[in-house]
Amino acid sequence: MPGDLAYRFPEGFLWGAATAAHQVEGGNHNNDWWEWEQLPGKIKNGDRSDPACDHYVRYRQDFEMLKGMGHNAHRLSIEWSRLFPERGVVNPEAVAHYRDVLETLRGLEMAPLVTLHHFTNPLWLTLSGGWENVSAIEDFRQLARLCAAEYGDLVDTWTTFNEPNVYAYQSYVLGLWPPQRRDFAAAVRVMRNMVRAHAAGYAELKSGPHGGSAKVGIAQHMRVFEPWRRWHPLDRAASALPEAGFNHWILRACTDGRAGWPLARPARIPEAAGTLDWIGLNYYSRDMVAFDPTAARNLFSRTFSRPGSPVSDFAMEIYPLGIHKLLLELAARYRKPLYITENGVADARDSFRAPALVAHLAESARAINAGADLRGYMHWSSMDNFEWSEGYGMRFGLVEVDFATQSRLPRPSSELYSRLIRQNGITRAELQDNYPPALGYLETSSRSSASSSP
Ligand code: BGC
Repeated sequence: MPGDLAYRFPEGFLWGAATAAHQVEGGNHNNDWWEWEQLPGKIKNGDRSDPACDHYVRYRQDFEMLKGMGHNAHRLSIEWSRLFPERGVVNPEAVAHYRDVLETLRGLEMAPLVTLHHFTNPLWLTLSGGWENVSAIEDFRQLARLCAAEYGDLVDTWTTFNEPNVYAYQSYVLGLWPPQRRDFAAAVRVMRNMVRAHAAGYAELKSGPHGGSAKVGIAQHMRVFEPWRRWHPLDRAASALPEAGFNHWILRACTDGRAGWPLARPARIPEAAGTLDWIGLNYYSRDMVAFDPTAARNLFSRTFSRPGSPVSDFAMEIYPLGIHKLLLELAARYRKPLYITENGVADARDSFRAPALVAHLAESARAINAGADLRGYMHWSSMDNFEWSEGYGMRFGLVEVDFATQSRLPRPSSELYSRLIRQNGITRAELQDNYPPALGYLETSSRSSASSSP
């Protein structure tokens, strides 16, 4: 029934879901997060990431299940502390394990999108100062070199870092994640070191034995920052700062090598210029921003969800228009191929995941129609998993996981997703049922200008 499609995605579009090693694998006892989980009060309900989804053991069945749902791609991360249990020491069993994981995906004709760093650090790296220490750059280079050599024949699409901005903010500004620092200057140092490490990783992945086919990017968390009082110059300035400092700082550094304003004095990282072959957008929500003279550590801003807006279980606003805005912004600023490397909602009852999926995909399709070179969509997440400080409370999965029995139960929204994948598009009826103009978060002016395919 392609005839009644309201939106059609490009030929060869990648459809899948995303995970991160520490959140799904279980048994990762050699990184900073595992150590953190042992400290009382750090993780909600005292949850721990072992066994998570036991995916280190069950990956084959899990991938077969996703293949059965029509996914033709899968985003995953490799756990650094498994490949390098000690600095400079490679664990051949872990190397073989991930080779098998990637071969399994290839065997199922699911394109792997592989991330090298998704928040966790090997303990040995943490003990030598973590990302504040420039030595992390060479350590990361070793990781990229090993992955290029071992997996370059299986992987084309590499992500060096997942959300370096979120990592720096949570771990070094808010101090909510390990190593629990509250030091803005340290956060900037960490981001600079990550940009340098990205550049080193880029060089390794591109010069490895299969470097010719390697496409390297970053998965960047971006939010829509909107001035609470649109007319107020201070609210406008307060929202412009996170837009530049949180949304674009890393991407700009990896584009033109500038790594200063508005977070620090001007500085350059020349080797980072031109090191993005593509950009991954991790999009979840919009924040209202109000100027707050007491919030120096937060760039003088207070952020909050728009009162009365629909929110996920995580209390984040569900704001599909944001994905359209950000995709067009990325397209205009960087002119690179784009992937949505994460998008989803915490929704234990599966009551708004389906409409949110349709709405975000419709807005993505509109962005494609307006010129964004979007090549794929990875839903967060394939299955419920260990949600960092929130433990198992936040349920992001297309598939529900019973962590006591490890049984998997696909949620109804996963069936809708499979249908969209099969159609490579969204029908008018699906749009009408899930994203009608009456929904509160729709701002009709921008919807009415939507261009849809015939
Ligand atoms: C992270 C994921 C996380 C998701 C949902 C993203 O910022 O990359 O690891 O589970 O958000 O909170």
